[in-house]
Amino acid sequence: MIENMDVLDINLSSVPGIPPRKIAVLNKSSAIVTVGDLLSWYPFRYIDRTRIYLTSDLSEDLPFIQLVARVERIKLLGTKNKQRLSVLVRDSKGTLELVWFQGIQYVADKIKEGLVLLIFGKPTRFNGAWNISHPEIEPFVPERAAKASRMQPVYSSSEAMKRAQLDTKGIMLLIQLVLRWCHGKITDTISDKLKNHLQVCTLAEAYSWIHQPENPEQLARAEQRLKFEELFFLQLRLIQQNQINKKEIQGFPFPLVGDYFNSFYKNHLPFELTGAQKRVVKEIRADIAKPIQMNRLVQGDVGSGKTIVAFLSMLIALDNGFQACLMAPTEILAQQHFASLKPLCDAIGIEIRLLTGSSKTKARAELHAMLEEGSLHILVGTHALLEDKVRFKNLGFVVIDEQHRFGVAQRARLWAKNSLPPHVLIMSATPIPRTLAMTLYGDLDVSVIDELPPGRKPIQTMHFFEGRRPELMDKLKFEIAKGRQVYFVYPLIEESEQLDYRNLIEGYEHIIKWFPEPDYQVSIVHGRMKAEDKEFEMQRFVKGQCHIMVATTVIEVGVNVPNASVMVVESAERFGLSQLHQLRGRVGRGAEQSYCILVTGFKLSNDARTRIQTMVETTDGFRIAEVDLKLRGPGDLQGTQQSGALDLKLADLSRDASLIAWCRERAFEVLDADPELQLHEHQPIRIKLESLKARNVNWGRIS
Ligand code: ADP
Ligand code: MG
Repeated sequence: MIENMDVLDINLSSVPGIPPRKIAVLNKSSAIVTVGDLLSWYPFRYIDRTRIYLTSDLSEDLPFIQLVARVERIKLLGTKNKQRLSVLVRDSKGTLELVWFQGIQYVADKIKEGLVLLIFGKPTRFNGAWNISHPEIEPFVPERAAKASRMQPVYSSSEAMKRAQLDTKGIMLLIQLVLRWCHGKITDTISDKLKNHLQVCTLAEAYSWIHQPENPEQLARAEQRLKFEELFFLQLRLIQQNQINKKEIQGFPFPLVGDYFNSFYKNHLPFELTGAQKRVVKEIRADIAKPIQMNRLVQGDVGSGKTIVAFLSMLIALDNGFQACLMAPTEILAQQHFASLKPLCDAIGIEIRLLTGSSKTKARAELHAMLEEGSLHILVGTHALLEDKVRFKNLGFVVIDEQHRFGVAQRARLWAKNSLPPHVLIMSATPIPRTLAMTLYGDLDVSVIDELPPGRKPIQTMHFFEGRRPELMDKLKFEIAKGRQVYFVYPLIEESEQLDYRNLIEGYEHIIKWFPEPDYQVSIVHGRMKAEDKEFEMQRFVKGQCHIMVATTVIEVGVNVPNASVMVVESAERFGLSQLHQLRGRVGRGAEQSYCILVTGFKLSNDARTRIQTMVETTDGFRIAEVDLKLRGPGDLQGTQQSGALDLKLADLSRDASLIAWCRERAFEVLDADPELQLHEHQPIRIKLESLKARNVNWGRIS
């Protein structure tokens, strides 16, 4: 054994007694190389052998269980190429059928009538009788059953592993061998003091118990410790990375809160800020007062009022003699931001301009000049802001709306617009649970606006099956008669683009039959139209010149038409939850009662049903995000890949939110007390962190 090497890092080939053939298979088929890799091959479930069930105890929701029963009848059924083996067994209370579709000969050779079997499996009910397909069976030996470990682990194993006798039992034996060899050699990654403080078991105990728990309590202790191991070190890495970024990336300090901010805040604020808005403004103020670049993500549900928070922050930059800009992902959004900020700026004598792809040359030239001499304070626009021609006298603050549309390279171009990078505020309406956000966006600080302005009428969400379309159309007529406008959104995904376009056009034709000219005006907008036609149709709707907007998801992001009060989503079962939530956010922006109507076919998958039901039940973006996360898993969320969050084996980002938060606090405690991990008691933590970093070379900055 190599001196000073952590036993978990040792190659399995150094452990006596493991056949090289098995090591090769483990290595190839599951990337298991070291002792630690093998010990982290956790069981995916356990069979509780503390109890023998009776046939009278069976119910649909039981997990894998064990029974003891006598073979009563063995039958080969079915046709030649679709055979099945049916074995009827009986215990003191009744009978049960065991069924095999494969490996029939192997099973048939092992059993005969009258034999008493110990049977493991998951019972299901079929045609009024209980059966278990492909159970594990062995002759029942009372003494052995009593001695067996009480919670039997079940491991996943590939075909190749099974061929090398590494099925569940084989893996179990191998792990037992390795655990015996490791006995007394596993060094802990945290000190005894910390362990006692946290009240967790030792790492050695955890590895032993996760594979051979004597009871469910022991298993829970082991899981807690091993999850802690994953999350605590993940958080330590994130926090350290964040601290390094803060040290390295200097920025302009804005110590002053001056006239622009104060006069606007005192005299021109159009409404009282919500508590959440005030808190976030404070967080931003504290950040930008320091000579370190701010990188802050503000998450807030649609309509939570992110814009005013951004505006107030920009005023602080102005108070310190700097300029600010706001970038939006689309022209329409940029225009809307400009339109809503212009009157606020006018009130306090601030110059604000709009720059988009369609800005005229003359206006551009004037704008460029004003920017460079510093007479232009705030620039709002699209990607056009990034062009090298756009030079600021002194850019200090950048707001990016809906960050997912901007890439890393684009952000870098913004940074280059001053001698030090400007502070960056990213606004996102895609709510994800806070702990997850902190875990995913390692180097971003996260603020959450978790409160809607008062007086909003919650949007009513309804689910209509196709068959209720006439009723739906009547409802829309009623709303339009009241002066409201309506969105119809159709799905459009790449894989089925042709068909989706056809559905969109057919839907449009159907709608204009119900809503004919001249009484009704219906617009249509989709990706195959020319940009200016799209723009024209959009504007018609924004200006209230048409009643109905038929569109694909182009309207998903940010558009603000307060008079639109109904959102109809066609084929709603095909949309993801966060998309549905964004779409719904397009209505409910005015004083009127708004509606979101989800139209679906009759056949719904379980997931689709859950999505629709969640939408009907709640408008809380964070709750929706949590359900979404559970349905899809965190793998689909942006940022997951880079953050190392997917290395997690036991911990689950969606289920272990409170444990994540707890581990984060513990990580802060350790780093606050000992930022460089120099204390003797933190040596094991430092060593483990270094070994983790060595394994993840690319782990680091996300944004
Ligand atoms: P989002 O977070 O979706 O970008 P906006 O900033 O566009 O939301 O705000 C949505 C609407 O709510 C706007 O019309 C805005 O003027 C209004 N609003 C924002 N904050 C408040 C508040 N504290 N009280 C009342 N209305 C508010
Ligand atoms: Mg917005």
